[in-house]
Amino acid sequence: MEAFTTEGIVLKQFDLGEADKIITFFTRDQGKLRAVARGVRKCKSPISGLVLPFSYNHLTIYRGRSLDRINQIKNIYPFSPLREDLLKMAYASFMAELVERVGMENDPNQPLFSLLLSSFHQLLKLEQGIKFIDLIFKIKVLNIIGFKPQLAQCVLCAEPVTTNYQNYFNIKQGGILCANCLSSKSDCMQITGEATQILKRLFNSGLDSFKNLRISAAGENQLNHLIDNFILYHLDLKLKSLEFLNMIKKMG
Ligand SMILES: [Zn+2]
Repeated sequence: MEAFTTEGIVLKQFDLGEADKIITFFTRDQGKLRAVARGVRKCKSPISGLVLPFSYNHLTIYRGRSLDRINQIKNIYPFSPLREDLLKMAYASFMAELVERVGMENDPNQPLFSLLLSSFHQLLKLEQGIKFIDLIFKIKVLNIIGFKPQLAQCVLCAEPVTTNYQNYFNIKQGGILCANCLSSKSDCMQITGEATQILKRLFNSGLDSFKNLRISAAGENQLNHLIDNFILYHLDLKLKSLEFLNMIKKMG
């Protein structure tokens, strides 16, 4: 039987038969990978803790005809605090679900893997605000998959746009409108000049140049709302974890 080794982060799991589970990993060099964990639901299974969501493991996988199977699994980093704090769990679940939806099987995506890993570490450390970590994560995902809003030119007439005090972003068209096209602003979200400038900077800069960015709480909320809607509409994703996250935010 053909076997290979890789590293993988658990995105999700579901039950199979009486005692098994199918685990979805995002791996360093195979992209998304689904594999059976045999006997993992028996009470003395030594690996049941390693296949919990967010756990980061070294894997040996047997290629099967229909389903791959985990042969060996060793933990590299458990990320258990992300499962113990409700707010962190909600954000980590959203990140895992977004990667699960945009990641492809047998299609390595090293930047996406590294982003998920570093974002989980950031959720643990919280050296920056949790909403900021979430915003940067989403924008980096969109950058990695090459899906960017149109910010320099009007999305309707392609005239160059000068950013004003208030700007109008059309979610369906995927960009901002110039002053002449504002008559069709019915499907638009208003965003401040600050938020527009930051959005431009985030989408035009390299992946590592986000550290010294300063943003007001209002601008951050506005951009999170806008990017969530942009992802929902353009990637056609109805993310269960996003509903959960929004519910937790309201409770907090
Ligand atoms: Zn226009």
